[in-house]
Amino acid sequence: MARIGIDLGGTKIEGLALGDQGEELARRRIPAPRDDYGATLAAVAGLIAWLDAEVGAPAPASVGVGIPGVLSPLTGLVKNANSTWLNGHALDRDLTAAIGRPVRLQNDANCLALSEAADGAGAGCRTVFAAILGTGCGGGVVVDGRIITGRHAAAGEWGHSPLPWPRPPDAPGEEPGMKEDERPGPACYCGRRGCLETWVSGPGLADDHTRATGRALTALEVAALAAGGDGPAQAALDRHVDRLARGLAGVVNLLDPDVIILGGGLSNMAHLYERLPRRLAAWCFSPDVSTPIRPARHGDSSGVRGAAWLWPIQR
Ligand SMILES: [Zn+2]
Repeated sequence: MARIGIDLGGTKIEGLALGDQGEELARRRIPAPRDDYGATLAAVAGLIAWLDAEVGAPAPASVGVGIPGVLSPLTGLVKNANSTWLNGHALDRDLTAAIGRPVRLQNDANCLALSEAADGAGAGCRTVFAAILGTGCGGGVVVDGRIITGRHAAAGEWGHSPLPWPRPPDAPGEEPGMKEDERPGPACYCGRRGCLETWVSGPGLADDHTRATGRALTALEVAALAAGGDGPAQAALDRHVDRLARGLAGVVNLLDPDVIILGGGLSNMAHLYERLPRRLAAWCFSPDVSTPIRPARHGDSSGVRGAAWLWPIQR
């Protein structure tokens, strides 16, 4: 039986059909309609129909969908989606009605964790924590091949907890480039201040560099400058690595995963894998932490692959 995965993003919708062994049968990417729930529903249904036709299997393919939000177990409606036009809708039931077969819906970071646990950078690991470092900061937990969703479908949402051990500007023994008052921290769209997302996401890193230098660059531009030897850019990356380590230390203290996998745009920054493990160990309670930190093996395709895997693995 073929499995269809859909990754419903804010700017694009990606569809993928996998065969029995996880081999790719068909793939297509289309622009995502914005601010229009009905058009989004129609676009996803149309993409599924196209994949069905490409696969041409006698039995209908299963369908899993990853979204940048979650289905509330309480109401059955989408919540916490930054594609806000999805919020408040029964997307799974509406899609099921549109295509005539059941649909499974999951948070996109959970899909990343599931994909990487199944046949990616977390294969063979019992407990996998996957973090998306992109325009936002999501997270997902998979244990023994199953997504831990939680009572409120909120498990793994580490991005909206506060930055641990925030530094006052006069903290002793710190390098000059680290001297920024981290309290109360930048305003977050969730209504609070100082959420991890405001520090470790792409915009979080970019804004930190801007506060220090007055230059408005993207995170990847800051990384490129740093690679060329620019001191302020290197200092911004150093602060970013340390904040990420502090955030992940909370994950290790609570969950102690066998592997931490990074996805999203910032996961392409090679220095993270060189410097983050040691910095992480320094912040953890356990004195012997050696958690491997790896980039998502399936890269940008991990979300859509995880959505396809929602059927055989996640019951
Ligand atoms: Zn927040």
